[in-house]
Amino acid sequence: MSIHSAEIICVGTELLMGNTLNTNSHFLAQEMVSLGISSYRQIVVGDNEERLAEQIKESAQRADLVIMTGGLGPTTDDITMAVAAKVAGRELVFDEDSFHDITEYFRKMCRNMPKNNRKQAMLPEGCTIFKNHNGTAPGAMFDYACPSEQDPDRIVKFVLLPGPPSEMTMMFNEEVRPVLEKMSDTKFITQFVHLFGIGESEAAERIGDLIDSQTNPTIAPYAAEGECFFRITQRVEKNEEEKDLISPLIAVMKERFGQCIYEIGTRPLKQVAFDMLLEKEMTVCFAESCTAGMVSSEFVDIPGASNVFMGSVVSYGNKVKSNLLGVSDDVLDNLGAVSRECAQEMAEGARKLLGTDIAVSITGIAGPTGESATKPVGLVYLAISDKNGTEVKEVHLSGNRMRVRRKAVLHAFNLIRMRLS
Ligand code: ATP
Repeated sequence: MSIHSAEIICVGTELLMGNTLNTNSHFLAQEMVSLGISSYRQIVVGDNEERLAEQIKESAQRADLVIMTGGLGPTTDDITMAVAAKVAGRELVFDEDSFHDITEYFRKMCRNMPKNNRKQAMLPEGCTIFKNHNGTAPGAMFDYACPSEQDPDRIVKFVLLPGPPSEMTMMFNEEVRPVLEKMSDTKFITQFVHLFGIGESEAAERIGDLIDSQTNPTIAPYAAEGECFFRITQRVEKNEEEKDLISPLIAVMKERFGQCIYEIGTRPLKQVAFDMLLEKEMTVCFAESCTAGMVSSEFVDIPGASNVFMGSVVSYGNKVKSNLLGVSDDVLDNLGAVSRECAQEMAEGARKLLGTDIAVSITGIAGPTGESATKPVGLVYLAISDKNGTEVKEVHLSGNRMRVRRKAVLHAFNLIRMRLS
């Protein structure tokens, strides 16, 4: 089916009360424009079953697509999935895969899963499920038979997305947009430019002239955790000749961002690092203090990791740093475990111990405790060691304990990329 029109319904009493700015509508409206789908109305409804059901039915009378955000959480006031399913006459059924993703999410966050999160795996029968890589609630798409006078077989698509903007935008970009592109009469050619080591606003400013002047292709900046990326989208109308308008833009971006660009495409940073190691036939190991195995765990998510990854030392305690990696007492006693020198000795010690071509070490203060006047929370030292020597990098990372550790993981992969490029 072709989709020409959409209505956006954002669900949440906090939006109605003015406690939360409705950025989801703003984002989705722009996405609809770039998809060539007309969106004529944006609506906010509180967490009220009757009013929400009424609104969904009303929007479905007018639009081919009804996008809803919010109210997919585990608590009793999160009603969107149940209400939309009821409107469409669909039962909610337990989805094993989604439940597995939810339990995995809690496991990775080192938290016990509350019982009521099981509710988020109850999804309308026969729906398309969208994975949530940033949270627990999966999204869903399903059909609603909504006959009109002109078309007794009229079908309306319902798309349900989580409320938190970081979850919603990622799900939309990765899972929903490709599906909607296929349903639009306009063809879209998309390319992604991924950057590391520069914030979203600075990056957007650096190519502000391009963003402002382009109508086709369009350039949209996005922030992801610890990195940012641009999506370049070229529209090609049906029957129009297809020209490559994206490559000249990428050439300009390469000039302006240089080494900050780590990928033109969709590979994550760790995959880029892995591919470089594989191409150069080099092996790697990690010596992890504050990340305590996260770098290694992330790295072995890549199929074929064993071709380059030999092993790691989780050297959380000072005794392990000295006994296994050979970090000197002098460094540990006088400069501390979070120091340039310690990172250097950890990387050199790991490389010697595990016999790899490259070793990367990470040591830092993830917080919330443990900081001192000279060593604040978020201070992380990383070192990379190979046959040409050892290089140490000092970074200052923001966020809570988990975010600091996750950003440190990205820096470790980036260090490999920079060394091998
Ligand atoms: P959760 O699992 O966190 O409960 P959810 O899908 O049920 O997710 P809501 O409970 O509706 O989502 O919203 C969670 C938070 O997401 C809100 O407190 C608000 O901060 C943010 N949020 C929700 N809707 C929007 C919106 N339209 N624009 C911006 N932020 C929003």
